[in-house]
Amino acid sequence: MAKIMVIEDEAAIREEVMEWLQFEGHNVSGASSGRPAIEAIQQDPPDIVLCDIWMPEMDGYAVLVELRSNPSLAHIPFVFLSASASHEAVRYGMDLGADDYLTKPFTHAELIRAIESRLQKQSSQNDLVSERLESLTEALQDERTKRLLKTRLVAMFSHDFRTPLSTIMSSVELIRHYEARMTPERKAMHLDRIEGSVRLLMQMLDDMLLIAQMESGSFQYHPEALDLSDLTSEVLDEFRAVYGGARTLTLRAEGSCCVQADRRLFRQILANLVANAIKYSPDDSEVIVALINKVDQLEVIVEDHGIGIPAEDLEAIFEPFHRAGNAEEFKGTGLGLTIVKEAVERHGGAIRVESELEKGSRFIVMIPVAPVG
Ligand code: ADP
Repeated sequence: MAKIMVIEDEAAIREEVMEWLQFEGHNVSGASSGRPAIEAIQQDPPDIVLCDIWMPEMDGYAVLVELRSNPSLAHIPFVFLSASASHEAVRYGMDLGADDYLTKPFTHAELIRAIESRLQKQSSQNDLVSERLESLTEALQDERTKRLLKTRLVAMFSHDFRTPLSTIMSSVELIRHYEARMTPERKAMHLDRIEGSVRLLMQMLDDMLLIAQMESGSFQYHPEALDLSDLTSEVLDEFRAVYGGARTLTLRAEGSCCVQADRRLFRQILANLVANAIKYSPDDSEVIVALINKVDQLEVIVEDHGIGIPAEDLEAIFEPFHRAGNAEEFKGTGLGLTIVKEAVERHGGAIRVESELEKGSRFIVMIPVAPVG
């Protein structure tokens, strides 16, 4: 059912047209001249206007011009009804922005066909407009999120880089001035602190660089045939070098672990998940990385027996900067899992997490074995 306004000074014709349209189930109103019609249209805009051309005081052309010059009414389909079928009259009306032209006398079928085709056209135009509006709103939202991300990255740069930098400075100063009086253990502790801080800074720089490249679309995805069990061993060895014997890091690989993957990105996935598993669990607990071949996909599971993640944070931890309520006393930026998720998705894979508070967490990455993109 459509709302239709019929503007016609000849009462007999107006009523007949209105009656036809009411029988078709439309909601019809009528006006005998231009001015009251425009006032009624302003108060309650119809879906379509049918308008006679020749009327006293204000003709149909003037009604059309007034509607088209009002931004909130300009889109309403407008059909002329007129006895004048001259080429010039039709042309003039179309030039002013009319959508169609019916020459009197017209049949019931002609009128209904003209109205339906206009309404259909209008509804597909409306769909197009709302689609465009939707994609513009999305783009705007995206732009806002990116700007916010950049602002926070800059803030993080200036804030979070200071802590490891001042750790390095203070350890260097201590070694420079008091080396002769230091026990070998104390000196080794300061060297470890320096090394740990440098690694943290490198990881932060790497993360930020990757985020910036992903944001700007300049990141190059280079998949190659990779044996993930070799790559995981390498990554775990690096962690063992930093943590010494203090942590038990176990690799379990079942079946072939060959996939098409980007080496740099996959390192980032493993390094971030393993670093979190170590960070959020007690020093004497084991971290297990399991690789399970599931025919068309490879499952990479990183499991710890640490603090776990509160249920209400489970979804949000993949969002930039989100840190769970129980992670406050641990240092972090809240960016690692954002990178991991993005990197997994670049491989056409997916990531999910299972976790229980005070028991531990399992991050499960599924990567298709066949190449993507
Ligand atoms: P960060 O560790 O730097 O805070 P991440 O993006 O890597 O940032 O992780 C986001 C949040 O997810 C963390 O702050 C923490 O609350 C939670 N989280 C991630 N991994 C674990 C884990 N293995 N155990 C417990 N909580 C975790």
